Amino acid sequence: AKVNGRKQTRFYDATMSRDLVRRREIEAELRAAILKDELSIFFQPIVDLETGKIRSFEALVRWFHPRKGELKPDEFIPVAEETGVIVTLGNWITARAAKAAAQWPDDVTLAVNLSPLQIRAPGASLGILNALREAKLPPHRLELEVTESLFLDDHAATEAFIADLTEAGVKFALDDFGTGYSSLAYIHKYPFSKVKIDRSFVSGPDVGAKSDAIIRAVAELGSKLEMDIVAEGIETIEQVRVVREAGCTLGQGYHFSRAVPDYLATMLLAQERSD
Ligand code: C2E
Ligand code: CA
Ligand code: CA
Ligand code: CA
Repeated sequence: AKVNGRKQTRFYDATMSRDLVRRREIEAELRAAILKDELSIFFQPIVDLETGKIRSFEALVRWFHPRKGELKPDEFIPVAEETGVIVTLGNWITARAAKAAAQWPDDVTLAVNLSPLQIRAPGASLGILNALREAKLPPHRLELEVTESLFLDDHAATEAFIADLTEAGVKFALDDFGTGYSSLAYIHKYPFSKVKIDRSFVSGPDVGAKSDAIIRAVAELGSKLEMDIVAEGIETIEQVRVVREAGCTLGQGYHFSRAVPDYLATMLLAQERSD
């Protein structure tokens, strides 16, 4: 058993260092990819459930790797966060997405995901405002999507960041609602304009009477507090019916559209306005 144990330990060590090598590799490649323009921003519509019209687009980053093909953010955003590359990457994403959004009609907003590390970087709020100015996108057309993990530490920096940008007109959305910790405290404390109910409540194996009741309760909270409630991950017409009936105001998901390149986003808007 002892010999076995040792063998297992060594095997485990090898796996760990291989994982480390892989991360180092992704980190280096990611820095290069930004410069080589291998990254793209795709845009997924967020739709008004009452009118069916597009109210905003969420920017979602994609990496088209020359050898590995398309990499999803779940494969490289965590590495970018652990290594700090997320700060450079995040600035690039915001600047790029803002440029695209400046071409849309004035009443269509842009949603950008923000990692906690980006907020802690010095001058973070100024960086975002500069990107907006450069893109000529008014601050009220930007909405930053943050998750509860943002609030776990360094409250002073987070508060200052949110206060500065709110003052400038930028909006905040609480993302992946229902998957974290004491969300109600954050809704109480910060001026969110939107709460996005995590897609695990909307589609997938765990959906049922219980998740419906939760959506209903959150939607009611939203209407009382004058926040939009977004149902994420809507894949079927039946799910549209459920979340609308529960009182959600906005919806997002494959049923409406996947994330698309910016020229297609522009086309969707043009099409909708000529109807
Ligand atoms: P998220 O912010 O919760 O984004 C929604 C994810 O759900 C996106 O995956 C989207 O493509 C996917 N999705 C949308 N509708 C449906 C649906 O109907 N069914 C299913 N099964 N999935 C749906 P994506 O693009 O792979 O992004 C994954 C996560 O990576 C995002 O989750 C976000 O946390 C992170 N991420 C993506 N882009 C960025 C970025 O620019 N910056 C940062 N910091 N994080 C990002
Ligand atoms: Ca999001
Ligand atoms: Ca989400
Ligand atoms: Ca997520």
